[in-house]
Amino acid sequence: MKKTISKSNGRKAVSRTEGPREGSRAAEPQKGSWNWRETSYPVMEHFYTIQGEGAHSGQAAYFIRLAGCDVGCWWCDVKESWDESIHPRVDTADLVRAAAGSGAGFAVITGGEPLLHDLTALCQGLHEAGLRIHLETSGSSPMSGDIDWVTLSPKRFKEPLDEIFPLVDELKVVVLTRKDLQYAEKNAVRCPDKTRKMLQPEWDTPESIPMIVDYVKAHPEWSISLQTHKYLNVP
Ligand code: SF4
Repeated sequence: MKKTISKSNGRKAVSRTEGPREGSRAAEPQKGSWNWRETSYPVMEHFYTIQGEGAHSGQAAYFIRLAGCDVGCWWCDVKESWDESIHPRVDTADLVRAAAGSGAGFAVITGGEPLLHDLTALCQGLHEAGLRIHLETSGSSPMSGDIDWVTLSPKRFKEPLDEIFPLVDELKVVVLTRKDLQYAEKNAVRCPDKTRKMLQPEWDTPESIPMIVDYVKAHPEWSISLQTHKYLNVP
């Protein structure tokens, strides 16, 4: 199916000629009768909480954690998300109703790796409900959906696709060792100039923190992202 990437009204949209992508596990539309309300996604959990990481840290947000990931980070703290088959499919309409009813100003679509699924339907529903949409992705699967804020968290275990880089608003690199700082710079040069560049210490590797602090002091175009939801003891 022909695919184009465009920007409009500050959004990054991946538009397709008709409905979700072929073979999508997120939806099985009939040609000419596509309706986001008739779709569903495998969901590990969805909940109203505080965004703990990155540029929107501290803000209330509705999180939708889609199931399935093929990246395989050994330090992953949501390994239970990897196997899509053990999680239920949830109707998109129910996800939209819950997010809209929460009072949140924006929804965060995360995973797992959310781009394993065609996000067109979910984004359409959330936007119709008046929510802004943030995406957290490794960028290693094809982009889909109409997204307002793209956070790229690249992983060397499965590299980002070229197509994600022009769309990035925030680059968030998990840091364990000095090699990760080099990896962060390698990805940063591929992002737009306006991109917020953030280094995030891996939770179980606190010994990386002094190195990150020194690096940000020497390279102030970067800032530090902490997993503040873990300090706040919220999901
Ligand atoms: S991409 Fe995210 S969900 Fe997937 S293994 Fe890595 S940290 Fe875990």
